[in-house]
Amino acid sequence: MRARQSEVRCIPVALTGAAVPPKPGRPDPESLVSKPPLKVLLCSPRGFCAGVVRAIDAVEQALKLYGPPVYVRHEIVHNRFVVDGLKAKGAIFVEELDEIPDTDAPVIFSAHGVPKSVPVEAQARNFLAIDATCPLVTKVHREAEIHHKRGREVVLVGHARHPEVVGTMGQLPPGAVTLVETLDDARAFVPRDETALAFVTQTTLSVDDTREIVDYLRARFPAIVGPHKEDICYATTNRQEAVKRVAPHVEAMIVVGAPNSSNSQRLREVAEREGCRIAELVQRAADIDWARFGAISSLGISAGASAPEVLVEEIIEAFAARYDVSVETVSTADESVFFPLPRQLRPDAAA
Ligand code: SF4
Repeated sequence: MRARQSEVRCIPVALTGAAVPPKPGRPDPESLVSKPPLKVLLCSPRGFCAGVVRAIDAVEQALKLYGPPVYVRHEIVHNRFVVDGLKAKGAIFVEELDEIPDTDAPVIFSAHGVPKSVPVEAQARNFLAIDATCPLVTKVHREAEIHHKRGREVVLVGHARHPEVVGTMGQLPPGAVTLVETLDDARAFVPRDETALAFVTQTTLSVDDTREIVDYLRARFPAIVGPHKEDICYATTNRQEAVKRVAPHVEAMIVVGAPNSSNSQRLREVAEREGCRIAELVQRAADIDWARFGAISSLGISAGASAPEVLVEEIIEAFAARYDVSVETVSTADESVFFPLPRQLRPDAAA
């Protein structure tokens, strides 16, 4: 789902975690030290997308239905806080299935998707496999398969080694997909037959960079087949749009997210390109470099699709300890996307 409205709506937001009030008759010690003002613009939408909510719910529901342990192949979503929380409840994270002993416990595939060889291996070992791949990633897998079946060479625009790209390339036999990471890669690409060519993209790319590459491919290979624009998902698009709207109005931007989160990295880049002097990806409040963020008067905050809102609140509270903070939300889209749980975990599954 794309952004459905373009106007900026600024909604005042109450600051959570306010200081404890002073005892009656005593002055608040903090009121004696005046803090510099800081205007915080909160980007909206930010944080969890529907695919991430579904993947986390899948692990929690599997723990509830089957009890621990529940095995998860790869970080269910790219966020250490989320992963540690699930570990504490009994989830065991592995990178490959050969790390899992023979077991009746569920084995969940992460939201990023897996190559075809993974469910095949899981079946061979009689695992109870549960696929938490985001349906929007699965859609790209199916597109690639259809193109291949129709005899088209597939170009995948994406980042090498990202698990989603590994999963998408792994839908087709080796050599059937050519990865294009940059415009230079697209220029250097030599197709086997330019009349039988298709493209798909990673879902979490920079909208602007990808448009440039896709426009180039379409201009160079007029017969290339692909989605109307690209496969970048609604959540990636909406979060980048909100950052674009806020970035020109603030001195600095914090994107809450993990370094291995593609969509979070792209948000930081978007902020920088839109003129933010300081744009940083931060996992927790403890990571804030106060040498950089200690003397600003305006700050934008966003969060990648795998970053929980509690971490955004933690960041705001860290700034509120040093600044007299006022917070406004700048909203560029409403989101109401919802994906049901994987089939085996739905309430009617046991019926
Ligand atoms: Fe799905 Fe997009 Fe979220 Fe990835 S970022 S899990 S593709 S909705």
